[in-house]
Amino acid sequence: MKIKEYVNAEMVRSSLANTPQITFEVTDACNLACVYCSYGELYFDYDKRDNKVLDVEKARRFLNYVAELWDSPLNKSTHNNLYLSFYGGEPLLNVPFIDEVVSFANNIKSKQRQFTYSMTTNGLLLDKYVDFLVINDFSLLISLDGNEFSHSYRVNKDGQNSFKHVIDNIEIIRHKYPDYFTKRVNFNTVLHNRNSVRDVYDFFKKNYNKIPSIGALNDMGIREEMKDEFMRMYRNTTDSLMQSENYSELETEMFLSSPTYHSATVYLLQHSEFKYENYNELLYGKVPQKKVIPTGTCLPFSKKVFITVNGKILPCERIGQQFALGCIEEKNIDLNFEAIAQKYNHFYSKTDTLCSECFNSKGCVQCLYNLDDLEEEGEPECKGFMTQEKFDLFRNSQLNFLARHPEAYSKIMNDVIYR
Ligand code: SF4
Ligand code: SF4
Repeated sequence: MKIKEYVNAEMVRSSLANTPQITFEVTDACNLACVYCSYGELYFDYDKRDNKVLDVEKARRFLNYVAELWDSPLNKSTHNNLYLSFYGGEPLLNVPFIDEVVSFANNIKSKQRQFTYSMTTNGLLLDKYVDFLVINDFSLLISLDGNEFSHSYRVNKDGQNSFKHVIDNIEIIRHKYPDYFTKRVNFNTVLHNRNSVRDVYDFFKKNYNKIPSIGALNDMGIREEMKDEFMRMYRNTTDSLMQSENYSELETEMFLSSPTYHSATVYLLQHSEFKYENYNELLYGKVPQKKVIPTGTCLPFSKKVFITVNGKILPCERIGQQFALGCIEEKNIDLNFEAIAQKYNHFYSKTDTLCSECFNSKGCVQCLYNLDDLEEEGEPECKGFMTQEKFDLFRNSQLNFLARHPEAYSKIMNDVIYR
């Protein structure tokens, strides 16, 4: 196989200099034992969980390393805000780390460099740390699957449903800090066979007047012997929405949280003739572009950087940890931009032929790390591959959706694309 050059070391370095987000896996310990956890018995593609905590020194070393790039001419960002996010395990089991990193970031912030803090939490320790989170204006994403039965896969180490504990803590925040709750607290729900899009929507609307983000179970990296168990629990968000009573009304109310609106938005972003990247395109016309990079994978670090509890450096938390691109060592940062570019060029070259024959290549959102056989010899397979016939069906379904929802078109164009 001939390796072509799609990306080079400078592009990767520049992506890191402009990255909008750094996420720290603060600890691999958790105070829950959710049945479907991505680091549990259903999956194989993660480092052994060992109740470890991420070393604060490593986080400081990495932030200092990135700060040098921010201050270099490579930083072309028009925004001056960087999200620092804390992830687990359960991040609130390691608040000393979070506290130190927040203090460090507050010390190095300036007019040109601001930080916004965010966290995904299971909510069990919120009563203890709510003041700290409010003082530092954290964006909170609380994992809650709906009502008590819907939440019943999220159990503690004794197998007890954590619903009541989480709900009580949410009430504490809501009563103590109502404005903060309204502005900075959101919910994250996993869809499975004990809830549905309709149940979840109704629960959050009625109790908190919020629309949660609803995602399906992670379908990558499943152990062979657990596939039946996984399929028993798995539910597809679009199917669940379509099966809802008054689904059309529901999808309109959910807007971008609905899988159908989301899909139409991605379609318009990729295919609309009326979407312009900049004023030059608007005024002087679009330059016809040949899409040169196969798949829909982001340029490494262009969306975020994920630091695991072991100091591994990844382009995000949604891919297997075997794909680390570097590591924070005891004394230095091991990040070889040349080697990263070569690795991507190797992967892209493997998918090049397949993608050049795919009719959805222009609108592709498939990450190459989520192709099943990426690391094996030969060309990987892609479930999203579209023949002309399949693409016509897909395009028609998106256009039919927009024709049935004329208000959706203007809302997506005005509120999302030109926001
Ligand atoms: S899933 Fe893939 S494309 Fe998406 S952010 Fe992660 S590495 Fe990038
Ligand atoms: S959907 Fe799959 S085959 Fe098609 S362009 Fe994307 S990665 Fe390639």
